[in-house]
Amino acid sequence: MTSAYNTDGRDVDKKGAKAMTNAQAYMDARNYFGDSRVRAGHRAEGSLLRHVDKARMQAVFELEDDDGEEREYRVPVKYRVCPTCRGAGTHVNPSVDAGGLTAADFDEDPDFAEDYLGGCYDVTCYECGGERVVAVVDRKRADKAVLKLMDRHDRAADLYRQEVAAERAMGA
Ligand SMILES: [Zn+2]
Repeated sequence: MTSAYNTDGRDVDKKGAKAMTNAQAYMDARNYFGDSRVRAGHRAEGSLLRHVDKARMQAVFELEDDDGEEREYRVPVKYRVCPTCRGAGTHVNPSVDAGGLTAADFDEDPDFAEDYLGGCYDVTCYECGGERVVAVVDRKRADKAVLKLMDRHDRAADLYRQEVAAERAMGA
């Protein structure tokens, strides 16, 4: 929580302060969008699994075909403990600690340490939305051809997200 904005009343020349602020903003954005919790949230938003049917352990996977037609595939799913919150359903808001905290952050500000450890900065998990578990495709039971389509989509989506994250970090 050390801050480039805190000048402590010191006489910082304006240009220097602005450059420092830009660098800090860049680092903040890079840390934030590169954070595993934030990335998991974007992955969950981009997931094509829809209408998860808990009773049947099935979901609908929607994908546009080459002609731009929306097609639906039924896929078997299983549940696993959410890897982002490890089953807690919540995690610390990444905007608080995405840049990493050190012992000094806590030592200098005991109230912050207490709030942090007490869950004051916790938010509903970005990946599971508080469900504590996430549905994943049961690859053993899934149709091979559909798996192939899903994998192809996931690879393309990963690349796209990396590009977007890089652009965001550059301030685009
Ligand atoms: Zn979670």
